[in-house]
Amino acid sequence: MIDAVISLCKRRGFVFPSSEIYGGLSAIYDYGPYGVELVNNIKAHWWKWMVQYREDIVGLDSAIFMHPRIWEASGHVGGFSDPLAECKQCHNRLRVDHVLEGMGVESDENMSEEEINTLFNKHKEKIKCPKCGTSNFTDVKKFNLLVESNLGNFTGDASKEPVYLRGETCQGIYVNYKNILDTSRVKIPFGVAQIGKAFRNEITARQFIFRTREFEQMEMQYFVHPDKEMDAYEELKNYRWEYYTSLGIKEENLRWKKHDNLVFYAKEAYDIEYNYPFGFKELEGVHARGNYDLTQHSTHCGKSLEYIDQQTKEKYIPHIVESSVGVGRTLLALLVDAYTEEKVEDDTRVVLKLNPALSPIKAAIMPLQKNKPEIVALAKKIFADLKKERMCEYDETGSIGKRYRRQDEIGTPYCITVDFDSLEDNSVTVRDRDSMKQERVAIQRLEEFLHKNI
Ligand code: ATP
Repeated sequence: MIDAVISLCKRRGFVFPSSEIYGGLSAIYDYGPYGVELVNNIKAHWWKWMVQYREDIVGLDSAIFMHPRIWEASGHVGGFSDPLAECKQCHNRLRVDHVLEGMGVESDENMSEEEINTLFNKHKEKIKCPKCGTSNFTDVKKFNLLVESNLGNFTGDASKEPVYLRGETCQGIYVNYKNILDTSRVKIPFGVAQIGKAFRNEITARQFIFRTREFEQMEMQYFVHPDKEMDAYEELKNYRWEYYTSLGIKEENLRWKKHDNLVFYAKEAYDIEYNYPFGFKELEGVHARGNYDLTQHSTHCGKSLEYIDQQTKEKYIPHIVESSVGVGRTLLALLVDAYTEEKVEDDTRVVLKLNPALSPIKAAIMPLQKNKPEIVALAKKIFADLKKERMCEYDETGSIGKRYRRQDEIGTPYCITVDFDSLEDNSVTVRDRDSMKQERVAIQRLEEFLHKNI
C-alpha cells in the first residue's frame, strides 16, 4: 500500500526525492506541482481553524535562525538526542528506542546513555540488523538532533558556538510571547500559531515523508492561568479531533495515545496517531507543558516573563498547552486515507478520494475533441472564468477516459466536458469523481455548482 502511494506521488508529481538528478539527499523531499497545492491547502485549512475561526489566537512567523541560548534554555543542546547503534557489519544505523519498542520493550527518550545501553545489551541477542541480518552492534550513543550552521562565523573559528537551524517552531513563539502581549490586544487565555520549517538530524530515514530531516510544522501554543491548564488542555484535545474530522480523515484511522513516560515538567501528553501502512504512528502531539518553557527562558535571558492580570493584579508565569503537527505527516495521512483502487468493468481505477476542499485541482475543463475549434474555444472560455476563484486545469490530451483517470488519480472532484451539444444548449457534462455519475449543468450555473459542492 505504501509503495502504491509513493509511486502515485512520483508519477503524478506530488513528491520528489530532493536533488534526484544528483542521486538524492537522504530524508529530504521536494513537493511537486500537485504536492505544493495540497500542502498549501493543508496549511490554509489549519490556519483557518487555528487563527481565523478563533478570536483568542493570533499568528506569527518567526525566523528559522535564533539566538543559540534559546536552544540551551529549551533543553535541546543538552537533551535533544536519540539513541543510536550501528551495525558493525554493514554500518546501518538503528534508532534503538524504536527497535526496542517494536519488540514490546518499554524504553524512554529521557533515559541516560548508560540506562539505554543496559536495556539494549539485555535484548541484543534477539535483535538483527534489518539490512544485513547480522547481530553485531556498536554500543548505543545518544546523538543530538540539532542541525548546526556556520551563520555569522566568518573566520571559520571551530570554537565558536554554532547557530542552529531550529529544531521546532514553538521556541519562536515562546520568545515572542512578551512582544505579542505588549503589542496586540490579547489577554490570557490566548494562543499563538505558527507554520514553518524545522530541521532535525534524524538517525533513521525511512518511511518516506513520515520522518524527514527538513520538515514543516504547524504549532499552536496556548497561554493560560495555572489553574485553567487542564481545562484548556481538554478543550484543545477536543478541538484538534474535530479538526481532523473536518479534513475528512476516517475516524477509525485515528486514535489517542497517552504518553506513559512524561518529561518531568509535563502535566499530561497525548498524541493523535494515524493508522499509516506501517502501523499507528504519531501524527500530532497535544501536550500540557506547565510553566516550564517560559520559566526556562526567563531564567536564561534574565527578564521577567510574568503576566500581570490587570483586573485582579495577580502575577504569574502562564502555563502552556500546545498542539503540534507536521505538514508532511498530515499529507501522508491524507493520501493514505484517500487512496482507493476500484474495479471498473475489467479495469482498475486509482482514485484519490480527498476532501474536495483540499484537492490540488478543483475542476478539470475538457473539450471532447481538440480538433473542433468552437468546442475548444468554449472550453477555454469556461476555464478562464472558473480559474479565477480556484485551481483549475485545462486538459485536452488523450481520450476522455484517460483524462478522467488522470484527474481521478490526483483527486480532482469534478471534470467538466464541453461537447457539440454544449454549443447548442449552453450546458456541459459534469462528472463526479467518486460516483462517476454525470450530469448536465448549465454553463451559467457552473460557478454556483462548484461553490456549493467544494
Ligand atoms: P517522533 O517521536 O515521531 O520522532 P516527536 O515526538 O519527536 O516525533 P515532536 O517533537 O512532538 O515529534 O514534533 C511535533 C510534530 O512534528 C510531530 O507530531 C510530527 O507531526 C512532526 N515531526 C516531528 N519530527 C518530524 C520529522 N522528522 N519529519 C516529519 N515530521 C516530523
